[in-house]
Amino acid sequence: MNHEVCQLVDSIHGKTKLNVCGYLLVKDKNQNEKYYWYCKYKNALKCNGRATTNLVGKEHLLMKFVEHNHAPIASHFDIVQILNSMKNVASGSSDPPAQII
Ligand SMILES: [Zn+2]
Repeated sequence: MNHEVCQLVDSIHGKTKLNVCGYLLVKDKNQNEKYYWYCKYKNALKCNGRATTNLVGKEHLLMKFVEHNHAPIASHFDIVQILNSMKNVASGSSDPPAQII
């Protein structure tokens, strides 16, 4: 069974976030290699979106995904972080960054 690999996003506040299909999730807790995440907009949008991942090596494999009540969005700051980490991928491409995300 194939599981999607999720991208970690570091913030200046030290809270690790997870990018799942354009949704940003904040780490809730972890039990050994099992990580629980909740939506960054849990309070702001009363969103119940959650995700569970299994940490295999250094990769978070998506095990469970609870639907969000909003479209995939990221704050400007987080987009900057994601773009920085994608710089190598994006260089040499004429596509606007939005299409790469
Ligand atoms: Zn959400």
